[in-house]
Amino acid sequence: MLNGKKIEQTAQGPATMVERLRYFVRQRERMVETTRELVEIESPSDNKPAADRMAAFLAAKFEKLGGQAQLHRAQEFGDNLQIDFAGSARTQAAKRKPILLLGHYDTVYPLGTFANMPCKIESGRLHGPGVLDMKSGIALIFHAIEALQAWHGELPRPVTVFLVSDEEVGSYSSRKITEELAKKSSGVLVLEPAAGARGAVKTARKGVGEYTLRVKGVAAHAGLDPGKGHSAILELARQITVIAKLNNLAQGISVNPGILHGGTRTNVVAAEASVAVDVRIKKAKQAAAIDRKFRALKPFDKHCRLEIMGGINRLPMERTAGVAALYQQARKIAGEMQWILEEAAVGGGSDGNFTAGMGIPTLDGLGGVGEGAHAVHEYIVISELPRRALLLAAMIERE
Ligand SMILES: [Zn+2]
Repeated sequence: MLNGKKIEQTAQGPATMVERLRYFVRQRERMVETTRELVEIESPSDNKPAADRMAAFLAAKFEKLGGQAQLHRAQEFGDNLQIDFAGSARTQAAKRKPILLLGHYDTVYPLGTFANMPCKIESGRLHGPGVLDMKSGIALIFHAIEALQAWHGELPRPVTVFLVSDEEVGSYSSRKITEELAKKSSGVLVLEPAAGARGAVKTARKGVGEYTLRVKGVAAHAGLDPGKGHSAILELARQITVIAKLNNLAQGISVNPGILHGGTRTNVVAAEASVAVDVRIKKAKQAAAIDRKFRALKPFDKHCRLEIMGGINRLPMERTAGVAALYQQARKIAGEMQWILEEAAVGGGSDGNFTAGMGIPTLDGLGGVGEGAHAVHEYIVISELPRRALLLAAMIERE
């Protein structure tokens, strides 16, 4: 079966990995142009009109490749974009389950960032807002599909591309669709940025949660009636020391009280105060325990009331057998290009956490290589594009 398929493929496309890599080296400038084109359309998660423009642009672009685009309307965020490509009708491949190529087109940069952070090429790097996270990943999807069509006439298997609008803010509008599409797929390839300068793929990600603790105290005049008040700020300060003790780095649990609010004036005993806390966990089974501990917080001052909101949003992406098998496949393909593809476990979550959590084989970090995601110096390394495009193309073919 595999041999038969290979013969059919080599009859049309470049026969060897070396020739295929050369093909992508020739496409490098076009890949840079595609990436630049996407970076120049600003698409912050919190601006629906801007995000919708991006979704419409991408829909048209992928339709030109023969994909069937479908916009899933979202109320608060940009529309989520699904593009389906049928497999070749001539081969058994068409009957295979689709592979899901997953990514997001939203960025963390507010509208107007581009004026101060324009796209530029310097020392072999392409700079710009969202270039690494993850517009170059979308460009890789586009050019890998285009190449497979050029080599085979049609795609050797069905492919579903899903580009979400709200990954950077929790994927609330897209998560259900991501999960439905993953369920129908044989595996999920996530085009989020690679880990580190050597371009490792991501086989484990931490789970991510956010909690807000709100304290309601009793206000009083700090000068006239100091004894009558019950300070929400004092109570919160004591609670934060309790929350900080939930940190357990040895077990991969980290807890960061990141944002504080409280009080109204210096001469008023504070009636309200709150803290927002970022939580990371390594294992899915840690989620319930950490959640229980947050909900079990009790006031030190009996006159204060505590309110806990939030929870674990993304369970960890654990290195399951399915994940490991996808990585082995990728490593093998990379090896055919004399490239030792490393794997990494990272602290940040992505939509790959959802699909891996469902038991669907998922490989993340297949996108661009660079540095400075979410930061002013964000860039990708241009010379990495060809082999990453070939890795993706070969994963689509063989997985
Ligand atoms: Zn991302």
